[in-house]
Amino acid sequence: MHADLYTSYIDISKYLPMEDCFKCGFSCKIFAEKLMKREVDINKCPYLSDKQKEYIKMAVNAESILPKIPIYPSTITTKIGFVMVDKNSPILVTANYPYTQAVIGEVLAKANIQCNLLIIDTEGYSVDMAVYLNLFTGDRVKAAILESDLQSQVSQKKLVIPGLAEKFKNEIEEETGWEVLVGPICAIEIPIFLLTEKLINS
Ligand code: SF4
Repeated sequence: MHADLYTSYIDISKYLPMEDCFKCGFSCKIFAEKLMKREVDINKCPYLSDKQKEYIKMAVNAESILPKIPIYPSTITTKIGFVMVDKNSPILVTANYPYTQAVIGEVLAKANIQCNLLIIDTEGYSVDMAVYLNLFTGDRVKAAILESDLQSQVSQKKLVIPGLAEKFKNEIEEETGWEVLVGPICAIEIPIFLLTEKLINS
């Protein structure tokens, strides 16, 4: 048995042009569904860049790319704070749980993307459990920002939180004063999400 990495939540229709021009033979929504079933060639949409195609293909192939994460019966804590790779790179907020970080690391490496991580104190729980237990809160994000003196280290006050933590978006913005974007639920969508939001170069 392995942990649920929420691949059933992958929705690549969000990343298609949504022009419904039917040049691919379908509406964008149907084309996205057929892509996930590997029934169509992504090159049939003429509006996607090479990078978009690459990252959408990653999402389509999520099961073979995402690492197999064991279901661990208790908490495991990692260091809390800021892991910086570049002051201009996006900042992903995540849990102080090693397997969550491993999944993100694997996806970013596969996409050859650099991101900073802001690791908050979720008491060693994964993101889904932290959300369930109300641990992904504004005050915990604020504490991580202050403890790592984040503002002095980066070029923009913008955070990306996991899709599962969406209900904390407003609270985090109010507590921290930072802009908060809600990222995808499944980590495999992080590259195409960042590209779509223009947080990384195309
Ligand atoms: S060609 Fe692209 S933009 Fe047009 S309907 Fe198909 S997926 Fe949508």
